[in-house]
Amino acid sequence: MVAASALETERRDETVFDDAALAGLTPHFRGELIRPGGTQYDDARAVWNGAIDRRPGLIARCTGSADVRAAVRFAREHDLLVSVRGGGHNVAGTAVCDGGLVIDLSPMKGLWVDPVGRTARAQPGLLWGEFDRETQAFALAAPGGIISHTGIAGLTLGGGLGWLMRRHGLAADNVLSADVVTADGDFLRASAEEHADLFWGLRGGGGNFGVVTSFLFRLHPVPQHIRPNDRHLSRAAQRFTTTIGKLGQTVRRFEQAPA
Ligand SMILES: Cc1cc2nc3c(=O)[nH]c(=O)nc-3n(C[C@H](O)[C@H](O)[C@H](O)COP(=O)(O)OP(=O)(O)OC[C@H]3O[C@@H](n4cnc5c(N)ncnc54)[C@H](O)[C@@H]3O)c2cc1C
Repeated sequence: MVAASALETERRDETVFDDAALAGLTPHFRGELIRPGGTQYDDARAVWNGAIDRRPGLIARCTGSADVRAAVRFAREHDLLVSVRGGGHNVAGTAVCDGGLVIDLSPMKGLWVDPVGRTARAQPGLLWGEFDRETQAFALAAPGGIISHTGIAGLTLGGGLGWLMRRHGLAADNVLSADVVTADGDFLRASAEEHADLFWGLRGGGGNFGVVTSFLFRLHPVPQHIRPNDRHLSRAAQRFTTTIGKLGQTVRRFEQAPA
C-alpha cells in the first residue's frame, strides 16, 4: 500500500510504494518505475545541482505521452506531490520532490526535423547539445541555451536565453505549438490557434502548467559547426600565433634593454 506519509509534502525518507500500490499503474506504464532501495535509485534522483538531496517515493521514467498520462492519473488517484524532470538542470532542484512522484521525461529524446518547413518536433528529454546535433545536420537551429547539457524543456518553458537570441529571440518565442498532458491526465495541443491562453503561459511561465510531451520549434538557417580545418578557424589561429610571436619579441627586447 502507499504509506500514509506519501500524501504529505514535507521530507519523508520512509515513503514506500509497494507492488500492491503500483498495481494501478504498472499495466499502463511502459517505462521504468524506480523505487527507493533499487540499484538505480540514487542515480535517478540526482540532479545537476549536487547539493540537492531529495528522496522521491517513486520515479516514473516515461517513454511517451501514454506513460505521462498514466503517471499523472496515478498521482491524482493517490493525491501525490508531483515534480517534472526534463534535463534536471534547475538549480533549485525542482525536478525532484521528497516523498512524491517524479515524472521523469529524460528517456523521451525523439526529434523530427522538417528541413523544408524549417521546424522541429522535439520531445522534452532532449538536451540542447542533442537537439543542435540533429538540426545542425541541415544547417538549421532553434535559439536554445548557452550550455549544451541543459534540458530543452525547462529552459524553453522558462523563456530561454541563448547565443541566437539577439537575432531570433528567446527559445520560447520560437515555439509554434506544444503537446501537453494536463493535470486531469488529458492530452491537448496548445498553439496560437488552440488553447491560446495556455500557450501564452507555457512560453516563459516556468513549467508545471501541465506536462509538455513535445514542442514544435521554428528553425533558422545558421552556418554549420566550425571545424578545425575551416579556413576561418585557421586564419584565427594564424592571427593568434602571430600576436603571441610579436608579444614574445616585445618581451625579449624589454629584457635586453639597458637598465
Ligand atoms: C549550467 C547551467 C547553464 C544554464 N544556461 C542557461 C542558458 O544559457 N539560458 C537560460 O535561459 N537558462 C540557462 N540555465 C537555466 C535553465 O534554463 C533552467 O535551470 C531550466 O529549468 C533547465 O531546464 P531542464 O529541463 O534541465 O530543467 P529541470 O530541472 O529538469 O526542470 C526544471 C523545471 O522545469 C519544469 N519542466 C521541465 N520540463 C517540463 C515539461 N516537459 N513540462 C512541464 N514542466 C517542465 C518543471 O517545473 C521542472 O521542475 C542554465 C542552468 C544551468 C545549471
